[in-house]
Amino acid sequence: MANRRHSARRVKRLRSYNVREAAKVTGATAGTIRHLLKNGLEPVAGCFPAIVRGIDLIDFLNRRSASRKRPCGPGRMFCLRCKEPKRPAFDEVEFWQDGTKLGSLRGLCPTCTGVMHRRTSVSRIKAAAGNLRISIKSEEPRQDCSVSGRHLFRNKAEPC
Ligand SMILES: [Zn+2]
Repeated sequence: MANRRHSARRVKRLRSYNVREAAKVTGATAGTIRHLLKNGLEPVAGCFPAIVRGIDLIDFLNRRSASRKRPCGPGRMFCLRCKEPKRPAFDEVEFWQDGTKLGSLRGLCPTCTGVMHRRTSVSRIKAAAGNLRISIKSEEPRQDCSVSGRHLFRNKAEPC
């Protein structure tokens, strides 16, 4: 998926940019910049074609990405397909631990039935999962996999 958070990092506060320059410095397309100009990005008054001040562009992009963040809160997970936090179907999540402290919660999106993940630590499961039912799972031992894989490979390499 393309990165749609256009970056304000390379924009210089004291410079002014025309549409093409603004597009280049933020990684957006010229069409996107024109769209932003119609949706709240302030151009320099009285200039045509439009020019925008660096500082206005920075403020606008930063405000926009801040308002787009949607913290999940307890008992909710972010569905990448629906692009919003959801309460998992059946009020149920699985916790798959990897390592001693970390793991991820997995639940089903009630809307698109996609699998949702949420990273958390063992000590914060309760805070992340809220009042969802948690079933603890553990990863299959990886060693078995690689051993049988190698075994298979060796068999194949040998002449029959
Ligand atoms: Zn979904």
